[in-house]
Amino acid sequence: MALTLRTKNKKETQNIAFALAKEIARHKSERAFVAGLVGDLGSGKTTFTQGFARGLGVKEKIKSPTFILMQIFELPRRRKAMQYKNFIHIDAYRIAHKKELEHLGLQKMFRDPHNIILIEWADRIKSLLPKRAATITFSHGGKINERAIRIFGGHTAHLRST
Ligand code: ADP
Ligand code: MG
Repeated sequence: MALTLRTKNKKETQNIAFALAKEIARHKSERAFVAGLVGDLGSGKTTFTQGFARGLGVKEKIKSPTFILMQIFELPRRRKAMQYKNFIHIDAYRIAHKKELEHLGLQKMFRDPHNIILIEWADRIKSLLPKRAATITFSHGGKINERAIRIFGGHTAHLRST
């Protein structure tokens, strides 16, 4: 079962991501929060990531080109209770082989409860991801700016209303 959300423009996708990030940040877990973003080029993964980062209080610009493999942003300490300290954005688009990611120390990052991690093109490195990772899929709708965003599993289970 998944939660399906439909958006009509970029701003709506960012707003959904913003709200989701705030919700996730409120929860606690023993390891990192990890979500894989899956969908065609231009389906909205980076746009979503931008809204998500804003929701966590990240001020820096999230770059949309897929040339960057990984960016780590320190989160502002807005609430003492918040366990997360870093937002990590990974883009696996250019990964030809999983081995290219070994030097990043992904498994250590996935274990660290201070991390919230979004991974674009997660389907390309699926076997490296923790089983508990959430999956968020993006697809084009009938009209040019429409997108369907589906959220599966992970710590987002409490958000499932449909
Ligand atoms: P991806 O990272 O999946 O390749 P991007 O987020 O970089 O995709 O690009 C999505 C493009 O689609 C952007 O140019 C954005 O302005 C546009 N767009 C139009 N409608 C939407 C929508 N509803 N949600 C997200 N992006 C949208
Ligand atoms: Mg992208």
